[in-house]
Amino acid sequence: MERDYYIDSLKKSNFKITPQRLTVIDYVRSHSPGHFTAEEIFNSIKSEEPTITLATVYNILKALQSSGTVKTFETGGSTWFETNTDFHGNFVCSNCGKIYDIDIDEKGILGNIEGSGNSVQEATLILRGICKECLPDHD
Ligand SMILES: [Zn+2]
Ligand SMILES: [Zn+2]
Repeated sequence: MERDYYIDSLKKSNFKITPQRLTVIDYVRSHSPGHFTAEEIFNSIKSEEPTITLATVYNILKALQSSGTVKTFETGGSTWFETNTDFHGNFVCSNCGKIYDIDIDEKGILGNIEGSGNSVQEATLILRGICKECLPDHD
């Protein structure tokens, strides 16, 4: 996505665009698609932005989330963010900790729930296991 897409998203949450916020946006853009925590961003940019705090990074991510630009989920005691806002599952490897996007049959899952008259507003699907890189027969 273009930088402007994220800038507009922050403006929608009434955030002024500052150099610190642009640094966070650039991190998010360069790690997209992917999964990241506020701590990872903070640790990666603090040498470049010595006055930034973890809370600032977190608030920027929350603002991006409230405008629908990033999604968030919890696993392994951490809050993760991602720019893939399409319906998908997150497969977490219990060995290496990598998170993989998994295609999920959206109609199959939501059809059952919405077919009986309910309305789903948010879905977080986390699947845990061992990824193919970590399985012993991987060559
Ligand atoms: Zn693994
Ligand atoms: Zn994902």
